[in-house]
Amino acid sequence: MRLLVTGGAGYIGSIVAQQLLARGDDVTVLDSLYRGHREAVPEGAAFVEADLLDPAAVGAVLDGGGFEGVVHFAALSLVGESVEHPERYWRGNVVGALNLLDAMRAAGVPRLVFSSTAATYGEPAVDLITEEEPNAPVNAYGNSKLTIDRMLADEARAHGLAAVSLRYFNVAGASGRLGEDHTPETHLIPLVLQAAAGTRPSVAIFGTDYPTPDGTAVRDYVHVDDLARAHILALEKAVPGRHDIFNLGSERGYSVREVIDTARAVTGREIVALEEDRRAGDPPQLVAANARARAGLGWAPEKSLEDMVRDAWVWHQAHPGGYGA
Ligand code: UDP
Repeated sequence: MRLLVTGGAGYIGSIVAQQLLARGDDVTVLDSLYRGHREAVPEGAAFVEADLLDPAAVGAVLDGGGFEGVVHFAALSLVGESVEHPERYWRGNVVGALNLLDAMRAAGVPRLVFSSTAATYGEPAVDLITEEEPNAPVNAYGNSKLTIDRMLADEARAHGLAAVSLRYFNVAGASGRLGEDHTPETHLIPLVLQAAAGTRPSVAIFGTDYPTPDGTAVRDYVHVDDLARAHILALEKAVPGRHDIFNLGSERGYSVREVIDTARAVTGREIVALEEDRRAGDPPQLVAANARARAGLGWAPEKSLEDMVRDAWVWHQAHPGGYGA
């Protein structure tokens, strides 16, 4: 297929682009490089530096480009920032997605796979989160992603777009020369590995009084290679005129302490962990049901938490300061 990957200079987008290229697709990456990394754009992909907030630039890429589909990652994704500056999320995420849809419609691009999130569900107090769980975002990040999901449903109904939203839980690991490099880094596994490498003195455990087996918060971690594979399946299975939503999880949760212990085992390093108060807005447990993804996409994660931590550790050692360092 001839595909456009927006946000293909970011962590997940670059790895999806890499997998698409590996199976012979023709890939163009569109990224503003606001938070993405030029070095992360896989070799073999065409690259366009453009911002989705510039409709003329987006139109110019799509118009006459012959694209058969778009995989849309380009977005802001820091929950804390979204609470302090919601307008950045409404504009960057929602207006950006609307500009993309306008350009796709004008160019007749038939399918879209969208990077959605478990943040659309808010803080559900259930063991396994299905797609039937009510939408109840608790921050502007989740609101912006849910709004885009709804735009896609309307677009599919009105104009026949084949649309799929993939709702991520916790994504980790690395894939060859591509890995996770955020500024600021807020995610548990990269921070634990920085503590293992000694580039930070310790890692914080946010909350030890949760109603979970060891008192720390439980999350559903999926290897980025497994997650990327789901996007390819979604591109193949998207149905014209439909918007489908799939949770991408493993149905298995790990606590913060279990993640840190896994990292100690994988790295052989001590890793100093300091117990701190809960981080605002962190629910006790978020674990995804994946029956719908199994049935609808033929997808299930294959890699373990140990695989994620090992692959992220190998990448971290090759890129101790991240891309460009
Ligand atoms: N966490 C932690 N210390 C950190 C970063 C995260 O204890 O330095 C916890 C966080 O409270 C959550 C889990 O690790 O329970 C995963 O956090 P992350 O930010 O990686 O992803 P989130 O689940 O917030 O999307």
